[in-house]
Amino acid sequence: MFYPGRMRWDNQLLEPPQGETARLPLFGQEAIVRRVNTPEFKGMTFYEVQAKSTINHVKPNNMGFSWTINPYRGCSHACSYCFARPTHTYLDLNAGIDFETKIIVKVNAVELLRRELRKPSWPGEHIAMGTNTDNYQRAEGRYRLMQGILSELNANRNPYSILTKSTLIQRDLDLLVEGAAVTDVSTSFSVGTVDEEVWRKTEPGTPHPLKRLEVLSKLNRAGVPCGILMAPVLPGISDSPEQLTATVRAAAEAGATHITPLVLHLRPGVKEEFLPWLEREYPELVPPYRKMYRGSNAPKSVAEPIQKAVYALRDQHGARRGPSHRRSKPVGSAELKPAPQVEQMSLDLGDEPKRQVPKWVTEEVKD
Ligand code: SF4
Repeated sequence: MFYPGRMRWDNQLLEPPQGETARLPLFGQEAIVRRVNTPEFKGMTFYEVQAKSTINHVKPNNMGFSWTINPYRGCSHACSYCFARPTHTYLDLNAGIDFETKIIVKVNAVELLRRELRKPSWPGEHIAMGTNTDNYQRAEGRYRLMQGILSELNANRNPYSILTKSTLIQRDLDLLVEGAAVTDVSTSFSVGTVDEEVWRKTEPGTPHPLKRLEVLSKLNRAGVPCGILMAPVLPGISDSPEQLTATVRAAAEAGATHITPLVLHLRPGVKEEFLPWLEREYPELVPPYRKMYRGSNAPKSVAEPIQKAVYALRDQHGARRGPSHRRSKPVGSAELKPAPQVEQMSLDLGDEPKRQVPKWVTEEVKD
């Protein structure tokens, strides 16, 4: 039988399909269920589905894009605050452990994209990737859908941007360079903080933030614009002046084309996952968070000082303001300082007082 999801590594890394299938809401046919037999993927299950379309239209938003591509649903990066978690419940899976370990793979994403880009009705507009789940999460190391997606976008000179937390993006450097030569391409790493302790607790499945900045530097040196979305900054957890300074400084020194801060947003469905995590890791912050996140956004009295502090640090450290979708000329490595090494930054943060109770914990939250 022709099976579009069959890959050359079927017999090496994945358990062959055992005939197990699952019916998931939103997808017409049964999904092929696969489990992986390497330690790297232990406990993970992939549901290979045939999607109906690859390019999605999204409602107008303040991020400036109307089209997205998400070849995966669920994300092994397992960030405690992930805003995409509730989308797993549409599939009758839970927003907690299922979101992190049961990954939906749209195995026909590349074939569909090829057809969609050639339709006369396709407007050729900018496509944003990584805006829902991470296109370079661990599954991509095996399914390699992004390589096909980038090849198709490049062949059609279709502008695109990628947001990721994964250093796996550097695997596709040649494709990104090729894209940047023919259309508008930009990339961003999501780096909320370089504080190692906070990173380990909040984003257990992601590469070290300073490793991300090393790749950011590499992308910019190759002529692929790359900045950071400093997101989310977690009030009381990663917003101390020392933490903000270390993060902005590291991004600026790595040559980030933009540094854009975003304070934690907790929409319904995410809050229910985030608060039990907070109870485990930072129990003293549960009462103030409950008070602060009566809605989805942090009150202005909390968010604005954080944003202002980041903007001031950005200016102080000479970072560019961006974001930019413009092509950047490749620059010599001498023109950009290399990203600070993990060890260096750990030392820089190591002697800071771990955390002080922030002001808003003891004050009435205004807004
Ligand atoms: S990397 Fe992004 S999509 Fe993946 S869990 Fe973290 S926040 Fe969610």
